Amino acid sequence: MTVTLSAEDVFAATADAETSSLLSTYKRAPMQLVGGEGVELIDSNGKRYLDFASGIAVNSLGYGDPGIAKVINDALGAGLIHTSNLYRTAQGEELAAKLVERSFASKVFFCNSGAEANEGAFKFARRWARKVGTDTKVEIIALRGAFHGRLFASLAATDRPSYRAPFRPLAGGVSICERDLRDLDTALDGETVAALIVEPIQGEGGVRVLDADFLRRLRAMTAEREIALIFDEIQCGLGRTGHFFAYESIGVVPDMLTLAKPIAGGLPMGAILVSEEIGAAIQAGDHGTTFGGGPLVAAVASYVVDRLSDPALLKNVRDNGVWLGQQLDALARRSGKVRAIRGMGYIWGLDVVESANDIVKRGWENGLLALTAGEHTLRILPPLVMNRDDLMRGVQILESIVG
Ligand code: PLP
Repeated sequence: MTVTLSAEDVFAATADAETSSLLSTYKRAPMQLVGGEGVELIDSNGKRYLDFASGIAVNSLGYGDPGIAKVINDALGAGLIHTSNLYRTAQGEELAAKLVERSFASKVFFCNSGAEANEGAFKFARRWARKVGTDTKVEIIALRGAFHGRLFASLAATDRPSYRAPFRPLAGGVSICERDLRDLDTALDGETVAALIVEPIQGEGGVRVLDADFLRRLRAMTAEREIALIFDEIQCGLGRTGHFFAYESIGVVPDMLTLAKPIAGGLPMGAILVSEEIGAAIQAGDHGTTFGGGPLVAAVASYVVDRLSDPALLKNVRDNGVWLGQQLDALARRSGKVRAIRGMGYIWGLDVVESANDIVKRGWENGLLALTAGEHTLRILPPLVMNRDDLMRGVQILESIVG
């Protein structure tokens, strides 16, 4: 028997955590989002929310982008959603070639999420390290404040005690080091360490923009000791800083780079970009995934990559980012409820006196979606297509709710 539920029935049935059939791994907001238009989301009561969250850095092109719809429709028209990785497709090849052309990398591996991209990068690092070193060169080092995902090895590289504690033991051979050059100098032992993973801007950890000199020193240390430097640009990459890759603005080139979140316009996709040397160490059979880089998702990602690498869009994000920083700074001084602001482009954190979570909830009431990055840090990640009028509208709502 087929039961057809109307949208209203579904919303009524899942309206709260107690009646929902979804596993309660998230404290979800009370409203039900049913649509999107431009830089706004719409709930089941028709209320509109200005989006300062982008589905956590995913919806960089906002909602209802006609280009994304066309690519999806065309791909469906061709009848090819999935092929498996046993066969080549033009879409997967084209996307990989674009990312290679646009970066330091010589090869790309596609997967389905950010955590999966980082886990793959750890495997590739170990594969390569065993070639340049011995069987003891296996350790992965991450930094204090890092977030790299919620699977066993990526969680071991994530500095959130509450996320880690219930799931011990986590994957071995992965540890967290202070963001301190002296500590890192000791930890980065070329005999035992395969890779160092770094978010150039720590997103979940409080929107902390790592110092360019610090990153340059890390590059020099890892190069000297034949340790792979992995940049996790899952949140800060693909235009969010106003540069296609965050590393381009720092002038530090990694050996591997992981991407996910915005790459396929909201469809699930991750990517691992690898240098020629690391690529040469990887052989058939070393890694795999059923769905990674299928023709539908790759076609959408190709379109998104074209849009997000448009120099005019990137310049806009850079210019508006400087202006947005000034508006947030002025807000902080006027309100007295914001202790510090950090960020660049369209990724900003505001250290707030009150609970950041309470402020986010007041945002819902006032038609604004924002995020937290820790107990007292508000995080804003607007779609990269948001114009200054809408950014200002969001800043004004923020000012009315910060405490
Ligand atoms: N790395 C960074 C920097 C992230 O911000 C995230 C997600 O927030 C991840 C990794 C994990 O990505 P996913 O949730 O797609 O597994």
